[in-house]
Amino acid sequence: MKIETTAIHAGEAVDPHTRASSPNLVMSSTFLPRELTGFSALDEDESAGYIYARSGNPTVRQLEEKLAALEGAEDARCFASGIAATHAVIMGRLSAGDHAIFPENAYSGTAEFIRYSLPRFGIRTSFVDLTNPEAVAAAITPQTRMLWLETPCNPTLQLADIAALSDLAHAKGVRDVVVDSTFASPIATRPLTLGADFVVHSLTKYIGGHGDAMGGAVLGRKADMDALNLEAAVHFGGVLSPFNAWLIMRGAETLPIRMRAHAEQAMAVARWLEAHPAVSRVYYPGLPSHPQHDLARRQMANFSGMVTFQTHEDGADIARRMVKDLQHVHFAVSLGHLRSLIYWIGTDDILKSTYQHEGAAEARFRALLGRGIFRLSVGLEHADDICADLGRCL
Ligand SMILES: *Cc1c(COP(=O)(O)O)cnc(C)c1O
Repeated sequence: MKIETTAIHAGEAVDPHTRASSPNLVMSSTFLPRELTGFSALDEDESAGYIYARSGNPTVRQLEEKLAALEGAEDARCFASGIAATHAVIMGRLSAGDHAIFPENAYSGTAEFIRYSLPRFGIRTSFVDLTNPEAVAAAITPQTRMLWLETPCNPTLQLADIAALSDLAHAKGVRDVVVDSTFASPIATRPLTLGADFVVHSLTKYIGGHGDAMGGAVLGRKADMDALNLEAAVHFGGVLSPFNAWLIMRGAETLPIRMRAHAEQAMAVARWLEAHPAVSRVYYPGLPSHPQHDLARRQMANFSGMVTFQTHEDGADIARRMVKDLQHVHFAVSLGHLRSLIYWIGTDDILKSTYQHEGAAEARFRALLGRGIFRLSVGLEHADDICADLGRCL
């Protein structure tokens, strides 16, 4: 099957009772076992079928099977949000005394969880510039159990070389290489085929794609997903609602054609921004001016729809105009929806709240982002209308 067909049919099956063509929404929280089985999830017998929706629900399961097929994974588990999926894999895999390596500029929600919560559990962390493989190698210790990659990174659009860094980490005894592939989507990059052990997605973004449902997923080997199901889903409890699974499944069916359109539109908008006199710098993996354009061409089959840019005028002033004057582009956080979304991220603010970089890491961050950047999620309106709307405020 080609990817467009997989997106529509994988995980779905015609309901044998009603012969319904599109997937059922099963909201039931409990299920009648086919035969007597234990009360604890530890004693559940797989042949008994669904028991309780925290350990499994048929609508959520259909989405998990579709996502696994799209990602080329043995299996998948869904959670209530991208951060719930992140929490599941980090707390499900790491123990006190372990060391883990994270990108110095990870997505802010991930960065704050790692910086502010993990130390309380005795998990040691290092923050590394993933564009520098020597720095990653130097950070690995005998206790390093996890290397976390995010590519492209939110919001810097820096890339990590998944194949090279997975090889490097595994050769040095690191057990888990995890890739947050939210910005790429399975249409652009399939990290498991490049050597990673786990993939994390915020389903709230491109995979759901319509801005109306939060969700997250972890994908990988079946044995790892079974263990994660027991520990993270059953014991931590942050499971996905079947209603959200049903909405996200409908979004996932059009993911290949949406990603093609997002990438085409983003390229047009990025080129327009690059030529605009008010704009001082544009980052888009598909542009030859991206510092890692060669890696993007090797690792991404689609450059996705995320563009960031800086302006000559103070971006905070432009952002104030955008809040009032934008007509089609929504000034709002989040990304990956069919509506274009833009947000201003001020460097001083985010350094203080999220990253707290000092020394060389702070200098690298300021060199990359200047006083701040606009993060633009290019939607599926016509590129001409998106540019005209932005042009009114620039
Ligand atoms: C949004 C996002 C997340 C978190 O996902 P939620 O669904 O908002 O919890 C994680 N990683 C990246 C790269 C994101 O953009």
